[in-house]
Amino acid sequence: MTQQHLSSERTGPVRVAVLGAAGRMGTAVCAAVEAAADTELVARLDVGDDVSSLAGVADVAVDFTVPSATEANVHALIDAGVHPVVGTTGWDGDAIARVREHLERDGRGLGALVAPNFALSAVLAMQFAAQAARYFESVEIVELHHPNKVDAPSGTAMHTAQAIARARQGMPAAPDATESGLEGARGALVDGVPVHAVRLRGLVAHEEILLGNPGEQLTIRTDSFERSSFMPGVLLAVRTVGTRPGLSVGLDAYLELG
Ligand code: NAP
Repeated sequence: MTQQHLSSERTGPVRVAVLGAAGRMGTAVCAAVEAAADTELVARLDVGDDVSSLAGVADVAVDFTVPSATEANVHALIDAGVHPVVGTTGWDGDAIARVREHLERDGRGLGALVAPNFALSAVLAMQFAAQAARYFESVEIVELHHPNKVDAPSGTAMHTAQAIARARQGMPAAPDATESGLEGARGALVDGVPVHAVRLRGLVAHEEILLGNPGEQLTIRTDSFERSSFMPGVLLAVRTVGTRPGLSVGLDAYLELG
């Protein structure tokens, strides 16, 4: 396999394949790629389609499939010399490590992105929360979603809590005098940060980060009302992934946030 077809080395539109093209997100991504002037939709793949057929055909492949399929798709894309952009949830540290190792072993300088949330408002909320977290005694997260969501807490809330915990390293634990209570009443602890999950008919995808000090509170809130909110972030990733060798986790890695 040569590098001639990698997007960072070609001129013209970025050639994009979509995996899970018939799904809700996949359908929206296909439309966004077709509508953008600098991207070209070259393949729609679904269950049973052969990812290796994308070698030399696509520069970037966007995966919005299912947690049970996404890691295998990414390894097949790397073997095919295609940069993966992944929105499918369910990635854990071991899967991330395997992809990182595969990219290093491959040695062709491919880039890959795994992003739990492509909504710019959510990515920025997470970044702002991590920046603010050192200046407040208390921080808790409330994530709110539609009742069809199968995982809790959301991948975005997990990612937010981990970023906050990293920012607060060396700080005392948040004050909490709770000695007894019903299980779950104080949420789930993610790296020491309480995360509360609400599932409510009528909601889409929302997150609040509550930061408290004596006499003051900062609330950072993000709301995704529809799938269109993810498309600017997906297109940004499609345009950028070929220029960032190795595995990036979270869209914030591609934003110039300082
Ligand atoms: P969906 O409507 O169920 O779409 C998934 C699609 O993938 C279906 O068409 C499915 O086909 C197909 N598929 C399943 N296995 C596949 C395989 N091995 N190869 C190729 N295609 C395969 O789900 P969705 O709402 O679009 O969400 C997809 C994923 O994206 C979920 O994990 C969701 O949590 C995540 N998501 C992420 C973000 C973000 O910003 N990162 C935003 C929204 C959603 P069948 O129906 O025939 O099985």
